[in-house]
Amino acid sequence: MNKVCLDCLFGKDREEILQLRVSPNICDLCDESSDEVSLLSDIAPLVEHVLEEYTFDELFFENSRNLKDLLVEDWGIFPHANSNRLCFEAIDKIFNLSGNKTSESAHWENTDLLKDVSLDIWSGFEEEIKHQKRFVTSTSLSVFLEEMLPVIESDIPKGILLFRCRLANSPMRDVWVTDPATPPIHPQEMGMPPRRMVVDGGRANPAGIAVFYGAEDETTAILETRPDLTKLASVAEFEVMEPLRLVDFTVNFAPDMFSSDVRGQQTTKLLLPYIDRAFSLPVSQREASIDYVPTQYIAQQVFQAGYDGFRFSSSLNPGGRNIVLHDERKIWARRSVLKRFEQFSVRYRDSMRSEATWNDTEFTSKGNEFDDDVPF
Ligand SMILES: [Zn+2]
Repeated sequence: MNKVCLDCLFGKDREEILQLRVSPNICDLCDESSDEVSLLSDIAPLVEHVLEEYTFDELFFENSRNLKDLLVEDWGIFPHANSNRLCFEAIDKIFNLSGNKTSESAHWENTDLLKDVSLDIWSGFEEEIKHQKRFVTSTSLSVFLEEMLPVIESDIPKGILLFRCRLANSPMRDVWVTDPATPPIHPQEMGMPPRRMVVDGGRANPAGIAVFYGAEDETTAILETRPDLTKLASVAEFEVMEPLRLVDFTVNFAPDMFSSDVRGQQTTKLLLPYIDRAFSLPVSQREASIDYVPTQYIAQQVFQAGYDGFRFSSSLNPGGRNIVLHDERKIWARRSVLKRFEQFSVRYRDSMRSEATWNDTEFTSKGNEFDDDVPF
């Protein structure tokens, strides 16, 4: 095991690694010829600092795993390797591991440092922007945002449709529609509310500042308004007329183990889900104004950096994605349709965290009953 192709190491989508020497050769991992094969001895000096992110303890192995599994999870390497044995061999060679301390040995752990660091950054930021300062932060979240945004840019091309739903039949007043013969809200009135109407802040906008909230599919747009069977809704389609420059908080960030800042790469990967979750979480009415402040700050930073908007996960429609835009200049309301709801469904299962259930008299472990998907 002396050389490996970049496809084996990173998969086909990986961008060129500028520092890495490659040449046509036969890969020792997949046994196929490739134009981009690198010697393990050339890879080693570029990634040796990655090993500092892991600890090896021969005596303690309760939560430990082999190094290959950790590297695969953290850095996305060997995306389609068939042979564990060859991967172990390659990793041992790259990091110069031997004796009892090999990559196959299940005594490796992530240093807890990174998880702690990203949680500290997020909770420190939340605490400060909610209770100590407003509109600015002295926490390192601002630095991370600045570095993170270009990396998670994801654009929407011209011609794509975005969706927006309103449960009321008047754009100005929250009047519930019950007559199915009512016309839908006019498409031109389905967009952002007039600024003077924005008296309450939202996830992405402080009071007085209007932004466009939409979704990438109709179902998500509808579910995000939390409808019920007594209501009718207007759903509008907006066509993207010019490409939109977006930041994607839903992305599964693939950190680069060849970066000189591997710690920053890992922290970005761990921080992103905090941001996405903060935008997704429904906030209870009572606490809304204060709980929206962290995400309002992040939204402003995204707009300030010149992006048209951003994408975040829906917590009401798993897999659905919401879009927030700074303004409506690049989209056009094409049509709106009145919808009536026939049925909502729910799938649920016992929580992983509560593996126990109270019975009449005894506390009984329920084990792993996770397959009870019950239609509602
Ligand atoms: Zn290969």
